Amino acid sequence: MAQAQEKDFFAGFNFVEAPFIGTRPPGPKAKELLVRQKMVDSNVLVYPSQIPLAPESGLGATVKDVDGNYYIDFSGGVGVLNVGHSHPDVIAAIKKQAEKLIHGLDFPGEPRVRLSEKLVGLGPGEMRNKCKIFLCGPTGADAVEAAVKLGKYHSRKPGVISFEGGWHGVSGSGLAATGRKGAKDRFLPVIPEFYIIPYAYCYRCRFGMTYPSCDLQCAQYLEHIVRDPDSGATSPGSVLIEPIQGEGGIVVPPDGYLQEVRRICTQYGLLLIMDEIQTGFGRTGSMFCCENWGVSPDILTASKTMGGGLPLAAVIIREEFDTWTAGAHVGTFRGNLLSCAAGLASINFIEKNNLSARAQDLGQKALDRLTGIAARSSYIGDVRGKGLFVAIEFVKDKKTKEPGPDLLQEVVKRCYERGLILWKGGRWNNCARIMPALVISESLLNQGIDIFEEALRSMEKELRK
Ligand code: PLP
Repeated sequence: MAQAQEKDFFAGFNFVEAPFIGTRPPGPKAKELLVRQKMVDSNVLVYPSQIPLAPESGLGATVKDVDGNYYIDFSGGVGVLNVGHSHPDVIAAIKKQAEKLIHGLDFPGEPRVRLSEKLVGLGPGEMRNKCKIFLCGPTGADAVEAAVKLGKYHSRKPGVISFEGGWHGVSGSGLAATGRKGAKDRFLPVIPEFYIIPYAYCYRCRFGMTYPSCDLQCAQYLEHIVRDPDSGATSPGSVLIEPIQGEGGIVVPPDGYLQEVRRICTQYGLLLIMDEIQTGFGRTGSMFCCENWGVSPDILTASKTMGGGLPLAAVIIREEFDTWTAGAHVGTFRGNLLSCAAGLASINFIEKNNLSARAQDLGQKALDRLTGIAARSSYIGDVRGKGLFVAIEFVKDKKTKEPGPDLLQEVVKRCYERGLILWKGGRWNNCARIMPALVISESLLNQGIDIFEEALRSMEKELRK
């Protein structure tokens, strides 16, 4: 597609008005809704306190609020909206299916079978056309739960190795696998036999080393845990890992790390469970993120964008590991037909328009610009990413690397007031995450980065006073 043509094509998937702030947000209608929500919703909700947004509609990588303000949305529904808000193909697929059948249990509804067939053909590397699909859901946590149970079932070992900074949802296994104390400490005890070890977080290397002279100490540590009879890990049967840690702050491991994890799993007979719930379907420049390093897992979890915006999750299983029996993991809402139809439409659009390549191209451009912005800032310690999955890590001091969550929250607030939805993440909530819909136009991406820079500079100026 010629460049100019491509620009127009993707611009058409977004509100032309964005960004536009006509009423200082939150405006009167948003305020009213936020108050009403607070009256009835549980305290446990977190997002409205970060950004007091009351959305009315969305299109692609843009959102309109109830007061008529238009925002560029860099959050992409936290990984749910790779084809964007209200994609026309997704809407059409939902409508068509809703008129026929909405709920079909495990029976072979047409969109359900077609989606599974599609996923079999998309399985990364050695999985391709040699895998089975367990459509589950509605949430990613359920896919994690199922994958971990299958790992235990198959290996006959209860132990799972997972990683500091990892996030796999808040159900039993997902919660046990996370290192985040705050998520766990009022819910103890968690499921036993999870061993949590350092991830390949080069900016804050647990071993105090630098890549590549470190010789991948973090991977060596995994091997030690598995091999050393004194490591305390008595029964590992599986390794549960994100190919790039999403909630942990878009932590991209260095080249060679995932390949080493694969080698160790193969050598010591562990199942490799790759959690691609946040990284799947084009986000990082390939259909699945592990393909960036040519690694194929034994079990893969997918969710978020897989339903095109509707709740859906799946476990992709290499054929030889699909050894569990009927009923080993069951539930009511699995492979919902509307979600399957929407998901198929979304995946087809990603493939047809090569959104993986687009993510790679736009992601690199964003990374280049942000690296320049970081070099001129006292508060950005690291910028990293792959595809359109980019993190900006805020620190109070570049030398000590003390995390700067308050600084980031201030920038998020200023972005919101200027028409940009910026998302947070990271172990200390100090990483801005740039993960817009892959249909964002280049112009909107640049305007979003402009807003970010302006918000950052205005804060820095005030801090200097
Ligand atoms: N796994 C990963 C890698 C995730 O990023 C998430 C959610 O952010 C989950 C699992 C849990 O998914 P859900 O929140 O849909 O339960």
